[in-house]
Amino acid sequence: MNLQKIEQLAKELIQEIGENPDREGLKKTPIRFAKSFEKIFGGYGQDPSSIMTEFDSENYDEMIICKSIDFYSTCEHHIQPFFGKVSIGYIPNKKIVGISKLPRLVEIFSRRLQNQERLTQQIANALSELLNAKGVAVVIKAKHLCMMSRGVEKQNSVMITSSCNGLFKKNAKTRSEFLRLIE
Ligand code: ZN
Repeated sequence: MNLQKIEQLAKELIQEIGENPDREGLKKTPIRFAKSFEKIFGGYGQDPSSIMTEFDSENYDEMIICKSIDFYSTCEHHIQPFFGKVSIGYIPNKKIVGISKLPRLVEIFSRRLQNQERLTQQIANALSELLNAKGVAVVIKAKHLCMMSRGVEKQNSVMITSSCNGLFKKNAKTRSEFLRLIE
């Protein structure tokens, strides 16, 4: 990321909306804006396999869930934040993952220009591949600023997406157990 370039573009943007980028309160805004991009779009170029630490499951073969992981992402249609909670469940196949790695996985895919559907699938697919799990399920509940502050201006609507595979797809009981546990 070329922060200087982003800073320059932010200055132009401020000008274009009719503001004076040189007034006191806005002087340092372009550089702050550029720096915030390092976090907000820091998921590019990060490889999920590089952050994963796997352990032997020691025959544990029941569902493992990490629920209500906070995330912030950016809607690719409007470049506006969308944010909420991700819940992830998987059924191990000899390998489990350090629990803090699931939020890290969410970070890698959410810190990009995204749509919620793709974000959901990317998390599920990456975990599936990395662990060769017997099944993975991901549910995301999110609010979209592009819907709240503009467009239809609906403040309380929540968008829910899910992606499941393996035993979660095949077995309705497994799926409903997961959904009950993440309530
Ligand atoms: Zn949007």
